[in-house]
Amino acid sequence: MNVTPFWLAGRSATGAGELTVTHPYDGRVVGAAAVPTPEQVEEAVAAAHAVRDEAAALPLHVRAEALAHVSRRLEERSEEVARLITGENGKPLLWARGEVTRAVSTFRFAAEETRRWSPTTQRLDTDPAANGRIVYITRAPKGPVLGISPFNFPLNLTAHKIAPAIAVGAPIVVKPAPATPLSALLLGELLAETDLPAGMFSVLPVPNDRAGALVDDPRLPIVSFTGSVPVGWAINDQVPRKHVTLELGGNGAAVVLPGSDLDWAASRVGLFSNYQAGQSCIAVQRVYVDRTVYDAFVPKLVESVNGLVTGDPWDDKTQVGPLVSEDAAVRVETWVDEAVAAGARVLAGGSRDGAAYAPTVLADVPADSKIAQEEVFGPVLMVQPVDGVDEAFELVNASKFGLQAGVFTRDLDIAFRAHRELQVGGVVIGDVPSYRADQMPYGGVKDSGVGREGLRSAMADYTEEKVMVLTGL
Ligand code: NAD
Repeated sequence: MNVTPFWLAGRSATGAGELTVTHPYDGRVVGAAAVPTPEQVEEAVAAAHAVRDEAAALPLHVRAEALAHVSRRLEERSEEVARLITGENGKPLLWARGEVTRAVSTFRFAAEETRRWSPTTQRLDTDPAANGRIVYITRAPKGPVLGISPFNFPLNLTAHKIAPAIAVGAPIVVKPAPATPLSALLLGELLAETDLPAGMFSVLPVPNDRAGALVDDPRLPIVSFTGSVPVGWAINDQVPRKHVTLELGGNGAAVVLPGSDLDWAASRVGLFSNYQAGQSCIAVQRVYVDRTVYDAFVPKLVESVNGLVTGDPWDDKTQVGPLVSEDAAVRVETWVDEAVAAGARVLAGGSRDGAAYAPTVLADVPADSKIAQEEVFGPVLMVQPVDGVDEAFELVNASKFGLQAGVFTRDLDIAFRAHRELQVGGVVIGDVPSYRADQMPYGGVKDSGVGREGLRSAMADYTEEKVMVLTGL
């Protein structure tokens, strides 16, 4: 079997042992990643630390060109990369191709932002005591970044760690998810084709039980983590003095109000509760529908969900493939069965076949069930009638999570009210909460995390302002 080397301070390496990568749809082995020894991890971190001043001083054109190169190469190799993602993650090719397109953009946006990365100035003479003074403001990297990424977008969410680090001149050590290391290693390969200094990047597929040592390492003062809620907050508690960004889970809600296009709303909610088999942090899990349109909306929703093409992720037409593992599908099945035993009605789906769970719609879900309370991370949606905007917004906010919310309305007052009142990092008007553009600020509140990604936001996050006051001007 072909063992993919990892990236240690800019060069490829093999270590001790390997992580086997299996395809969730049929369990066959699709590859393996070499695992670094503890000494090699130490070498990578020491190299990141040693190169930090050189990296911070790297001319913008070198950083921008490296980022643009990765973007171009991903585009050139897009079909191969999409197949790599489908192989290791099991998501249908349709979505894997979409993920590659997004990663191409993520690196391109980062290259563009790098070219705009300049000091700013501010006149201080708005205060009479500061006549003749201005302040010159730079943003310097806080230091090397530890980027930890999840399995569900193994390419693009790793890109969201790497690209802003290079843009601001910060070395980065990446720890990909053990189930899906191959696309992150491919990014290492493309970075190695650039003129970035050795030491500026390492991609280390260490198993989870060795990740804690990287988190603890004082030479990696920034931890940018995307993953599950318990692991994220445990990292935050582990290193309270570090700058930790947490992009965690949610149980995304959509609100459907009278006057909105019900066909559009039903098709979007139906698709994006099942997109990537529901394994997206901003998948729609709860939909609250105004009672006046509930009876018209629900049959459209059920039709949309039943119309999704399920099955083999390698088939171009498949929209819903397997979950990442059979264990994950069994967990979803257990949660649905619990809700049904407590009174929920199955309007669509509700069955499992190995690692695949059928696109499912539930009504009358008890408010205290896991389906209503927790992050399902599977293709399951609960639909509930509400009496107007007040109740809908109250229920959206009743969640312990707060990533994004979608509101189907054509009423501008309600749109601004949603933006003011919903306790989330982002509100999407006229679409599902699952919409994300890679260049926009993105992140959550409450249990869903702290800090923001999106190129500009992450670049601000990885850096600290430093000022120089000029006097007598
Ligand atoms: P996970 O928390 O199991 O793993 C995420 C990463 O953390 C992996 O690389 C894993 O190896 C690593 N990890 C695990 N234990 C660790 C430890 N003790 N110390 C350091 N690192 C450790 O999450 P997952 O199952 O890979 O991903 C799914 C979760 O990610 C879902 O909850 C989903 O909502 C969330 N997610 C959030 C966003 C977002 O942007 N908010 C995006 C995608 C996924």
